Amino acid sequence: MTSPTIQALLSELGVQLADYQGDAIHSISPIDGKPLASLRADSASEVQARIAKAHAAYLQWRSVPAPRRGELVRLFGEELRTHKAALGQLVTMEAGKILQEGLGEVQEMIDICDFAVGLSRQLYGLTIASERPGHRMMEQWHPVGVVGVISAFNFPVAVWAWNAALALVCGDSVVWKPSEKTPLTAIATHALFMKAVSRFGSDAPAGLAELIIGGRDSGAQMVEDKRIALVSATGSTRMGKQVAEVCARRLTRSILELGGNNAMIVAPSADLEMAVRAITFSAVGTAGQRCTTLRRLFVHDSVYDTLVPRLKKIYAGLPVGNPLEKSTLVGPLIDAGSYDAMQSSLAVAKSEQGQVFGGERVAVTGCEAAYYVRPSLVEMPTQTTSMHHETFAPIMYIVRYSDLDQAIDWNNEVPQGLSSSIFTTDMREAERFVSATGSDCGIANVNIGPSGAEIGGAFGGEKDTGGGRESGSDAWKAYMRRTTNTFNYSHALPLAQGISFDI
Ligand code: NAD
Repeated sequence: MTSPTIQALLSELGVQLADYQGDAIHSISPIDGKPLASLRADSASEVQARIAKAHAAYLQWRSVPAPRRGELVRLFGEELRTHKAALGQLVTMEAGKILQEGLGEVQEMIDICDFAVGLSRQLYGLTIASERPGHRMMEQWHPVGVVGVISAFNFPVAVWAWNAALALVCGDSVVWKPSEKTPLTAIATHALFMKAVSRFGSDAPAGLAELIIGGRDSGAQMVEDKRIALVSATGSTRMGKQVAEVCARRLTRSILELGGNNAMIVAPSADLEMAVRAITFSAVGTAGQRCTTLRRLFVHDSVYDTLVPRLKKIYAGLPVGNPLEKSTLVGPLIDAGSYDAMQSSLAVAKSEQGQVFGGERVAVTGCEAAYYVRPSLVEMPTQTTSMHHETFAPIMYIVRYSDLDQAIDWNNEVPQGLSSSIFTTDMREAERFVSATGSDCGIANVNIGPSGAEIGGAFGGEKDTGGGRESGSDAWKAYMRRTTNTFNYSHALPLAQGISFDI
């Protein structure tokens, strides 16, 4: 049974659901715990066939001029603009984030398409001075091959777009294995992409963007396949370590975007009004299920007793409920497993002398089978080892500090290294935080929270977060291979380093 609203949304987005229906993968609404649709999964031989198709597409696409490739991404961006409301709503219905964030996710896809279109005319290489007379050196960037994208449930469509928009202008084809918890948003995105392809013309080969519906096994099969030249995997550190091992064994490239455990430091000179808003959005947005969610807050002694009671008051009044309703700021957790993980982390915090505020299940009428919670604040006496672990739920630990070095040490003490921020109006503190001796994360912000990145910067983190970079800046280079070319236009053959080799 497919829910009637979902059916209407999917047909508006151009999906022929009958092509996907089956009994292997069940999309369950985090809003009310009821089934949205049941789908078939691709068999191992179908996965093989999709990769083969994408590989054949790459062999053609690599010769299409890059600005022409950009035109396809431009058309896809147009489809996203036209269908933003429907796709945004579908994201909310399947992933549970509030409608504003569902729409924001689609906007992020549009933004990366715009970025990639510009990039399609800027895939620059260098010209390098040669040490030999009558010689010239240069670098070129060529397409790398088939890019395999594995994505997580919490950004069910934007992460694919970050990868695909860049990969496509770079001349690669893409195979996507979305989260088994959010297959419908992936199917809808694929349908919108195919609309763009149909408007583009015959130089877009079939198989340019393939979609695999399946669980972990299909993802693992894709990672093993030698025709996948680059694996871009987003999800838990556990998953990333498995993927990294396989990629290392077959010496292929990977971009790993894994778990985060992000902190903020609130210094004595912080603008507390701004800090309160940034903390709340970063800690409770997407019900604490962002990789960049604020999970650890270090507050200076001098402002602790002003800030923390304010936060408690705000947390007590946060509207928790159906994410489709305009007044809601906190939607549901993805499922029961997420709720259980949250409760066990809170129990551990209590056993470590943590003072827990919030965290209880919230009843939402008509949604009794879903998992809504009041986001929790946990005042901790110090940073404990249990705080080193990412619980993918709205738990924010708060610890007092008196010395900035201590707070920076705590920021860096955890295994993950995704995002971080400091609120301060003291220039020395701000500069210190972003310096080589400051935060060790891939993202270090000043006077904004750790979440809500823009597509223009390179996104990703260090250590257990995997070290990958996606999206803006020069992240495109990961989707291409570099060749160094030396040209000799002289009549002699001098060797580099002055080596003499007379025959
Ligand atoms: P998950 O690791 O359970 O699943 C992510 C994806 O990996 C799914 O598509 C899954 O099928 C696939 N997968 C799992 N094991 C695999 C394997 N061995 N081989 C190949 N594929 C495999 O993660 P989740 O619960 O969907 O998402 C939450 C996690 O993702 C959190 O840890 C969060 O921090 C992280 N995340 C990170 C980023 C980032 O950019 N750093 C962004 C979003 C989410």
